[in-house]
Amino acid sequence: AKELGRNNHQFYATSMNEDALQKLSLERFLRKALGLNEFVLFYQPQVNVKSGKIFGFEALLRWKHPILGMVSPATFIPLAEETGLIVPIGEWVLESACRQIKGWHEAGNPHLTVAVNLSARQFQQDNLVEMVERVLAETGVEPQCLELEITESVTMYDVERAIMILHELKNLGIRISLDDFGTGYSSLSYLKHFPIHTLKIDQSFVRDITTDADDAAIATSVIALAHSLNRQVVAEGVETEAHLRYLAAHGCVEMQGYHFSGPLPAQEIEARFLSGKAF
Ligand code: C2E
Ligand code: CA
Ligand code: CA
Ligand code: CA
Repeated sequence: AKELGRNNHQFYATSMNEDALQKLSLERFLRKALGLNEFVLFYQPQVNVKSGKIFGFEALLRWKHPILGMVSPATFIPLAEETGLIVPIGEWVLESACRQIKGWHEAGNPHLTVAVNLSARQFQQDNLVEMVERVLAETGVEPQCLELEITESVTMYDVERAIMILHELKNLGIRISLDDFGTGYSSLSYLKHFPIHTLKIDQSFVRDITTDADDAAIATSVIALAHSLNRQVVAEGVETEAHLRYLAAHGCVEMQGYHFSGPLPAQEIEARFLSGKAF
């Protein structure tokens, strides 16, 4: 038994080193990714189920590494946040998404919105608001067509400061949505203090909405809450007709999920969903 224990320990130590090594080389690759043009944005349609029309897209980051292949955001976003690399990467995401949506407007698809994820780390920057203002000016995107998605984690460094920055962003005319709503600890009190336009119902409540009474109760409560507070509500992770029907029956009109479309490269979006002679 003693022998076994030692072996186990040894095995464990080795795999820990491998993990650390792997993380180190991933970090080295990540530091070069922006300069090597390895990032690409995918766009996921957001649909108004009443009109049956796409009203906008969420921009979702993808990393295509020549050796590692397609690296999932679940792997590299946490590392990008830890290392601070999310700051320049996030700026690239905002610029690219705004340039894209402006191009789609000009090609004959006006009013489309684009939702861009903002990391908590970006809130630590002194120049976040100036950066957003500059990107709007440089790309010519109307501010009401830009939505920034935040999570409660923006408050993890300094709540007061986060609230101030959110008000400054709102004053630029852009919208703020609260992502993964319901998964944090204090969502309700934030609603009171944050200038939030939209609540995004987390996909974890949608998945089993037709079979799990608790999930259904939470999702329908979020819809009712959004309506009574005069906020928009978008359901995420809508994968089936049954999800759609249940949410629609409870007053949710705006949805996003594989049932409509997964995130796609820009050219795919153009080919499938947009009009314009350029496409
Ligand atoms: P998120 O913001 O909650 O994005 C939604 C995730 O759900 C996306 O995963 C999307 O592909 C996936 N999804 C969409 N429809 C469905 C569906 O019907 N069912 C299921 N099961 N999943 C669906 P993705 O693209 O892998 O992104 C994961 C997370 O990485 C995002 O979660 C977001 O937190 C982060 N992320 C992605 N792009 C960026 C970015 O540009 N900046 C920052 N800061 N974070 C990003
Ligand atoms: Ca999001
Ligand atoms: Ca989400
Ligand atoms: Ca999420």
